[in-house]
Amino acid sequence: MSKKIYRLAIVGAGITGLVTAWKLQKFGVEVDLFERKAEPGGAIKTVKDGDWQVEYGPNTLLLKDRMVAEFITELGLNGEKKTANPEASKRFIVKNGELQPLPSTLKSAVKTPLFSMSGKLRVLVEPFISKSSNPDQTVADFVERRLGTEMLDYAINPFVAGIYANRPEYLSLRHAFPVMDDLEQEYGSLIWGSIAGAKKRKERGRIERELISFEKGMQQLPRTIADQLNRVYLNHEIRSVQKKDGKWEVESSLGKFGTYDHVIINTPIYKLNKDLISATDEELKTLNKVTYPPLSVMLLGFKKEDIEHELDGFGFLVPEIENRKILGALFSSTLFEGRAPKGMHLLTVFVGGGRQPQLAEKDSEELLTIVMEELGELIGLSGEPQFKDHIYWPQSIPGYHTGYDEILDTIKNIEERNEGITLAGNFRNGISVPDCIKNGLKLADDLAGNVSY
Ligand SMILES: Cc1cc2nc3c(=O)[nH]c(=O)nc-3n(C[C@H](O)[C@H](O)[C@H](O)COP(=O)(O)OP(=O)(O)OC[C@H]3O[C@@H](n4cnc5c(N)ncnc54)[C@H](O)[C@@H]3O)c2cc1C
Repeated sequence: MSKKIYRLAIVGAGITGLVTAWKLQKFGVEVDLFERKAEPGGAIKTVKDGDWQVEYGPNTLLLKDRMVAEFITELGLNGEKKTANPEASKRFIVKNGELQPLPSTLKSAVKTPLFSMSGKLRVLVEPFISKSSNPDQTVADFVERRLGTEMLDYAINPFVAGIYANRPEYLSLRHAFPVMDDLEQEYGSLIWGSIAGAKKRKERGRIERELISFEKGMQQLPRTIADQLNRVYLNHEIRSVQKKDGKWEVESSLGKFGTYDHVIINTPIYKLNKDLISATDEELKTLNKVTYPPLSVMLLGFKKEDIEHELDGFGFLVPEIENRKILGALFSSTLFEGRAPKGMHLLTVFVGGGRQPQLAEKDSEELLTIVMEELGELIGLSGEPQFKDHIYWPQSIPGYHTGYDEILDTIKNIEERNEGITLAGNFRNGISVPDCIKNGLKLADDLAGNVSY
């Protein structure tokens, strides 16, 4: 039988842990939140340097669920919300070394040079293709079978690089893109499912999509949450979580804390060890199968007149088949106002990922040479960067590989054996910031069933 929760500790101030703490505090639980670094947010990190405002991690939050929108309102952040510039609805894909807009209407889809006539006709066959009997197919297998090779190469391959910094051949459709999997399972077709499922999605709490950030950048979100929490212990790396007389105690270099009725561990999965969770060698070996590809993010500012392209869009993605050395770039100063000084453009360029992990590891100077050459060819550069910064993520985003059920089952087993421990974070139920927010809110609701008022 589950126990009542009066006091709870959270290890890690990533967005999932912060949101869970915030909601549980509302339910009257005493929450202590411990973070290894000097600031909250984990992967969400904004840096201001004069008139440049750059993002090291996520640049945008796609608002499409009422639950997330209401949470932002309750936080009091609605007035600080920045909606992406309408120009940003245009997205480019590189084909034969040129930026081509991704079609957004039927007419532009018919005309686009991104796909050949046979590639376009192949998509129309999709509703007549039968379901796969493989319950855990890769994203690549699914797309190639249902939509054809061209859609895989010039739409899904770059899209997966843009979201997961990974390859469609590596990811499990069911785990990485459950909505697409549901459409095939429920409607037998992506096209029919998208049309027929629209009403259902609305009923499930979907709202009109809005791409947002905040006045002070993405980190304003975790900072605002942390400011509203009663007890946040920054610079506290938790080294052990131990059970003592039926309750939990956590220990950092600064001492012991507790006792607690429950502990939520919101660290990346690769940070879990035997001091943090009671797990067998075999279980830790299984959890270590989750790979987070390395990724480099280059932030470059240029005088507007030094760039030939208008940068009239969200940015561009590079399909693997184009054999280039970057994954893509965001036109950050087009996306949101206030990201670059007047007369300047800010670009956020991504290198490496599961596609070319060895490139992400290169030092800043070498990367700058590579990126300048690629940008020169793709968007036409004439001058030197007026601003440059480089952030290296040795382990960026968890790849939900085929066979991921084994990971989720192992997590469940660990939790069942250690009553009062929950593992939470982007390795479970979605990697996007809104997914993490939803997961945090739901976790708090689940635990609130055990809260004593
Ligand atoms: C480069 C990049 C770009 C991205 N772009 C987008 C985007 O545009 N849109 C989007 O929706 N999502 C994006 N994402 C994904 C999203 O940002 C992450 O999935 C999400 O922020 C992860 O949140 P989390 O709750 O799992 O915690 P994490 O961010 O992983 O935070 C975990 C925290 O735990 C702390 N910690 C670790 N060990 C300990 C310990 N022992 N004691 C105490 N604290 C500890 C860490 O310091 C960290 O603060 C991006 C991610 C990256 C890396």
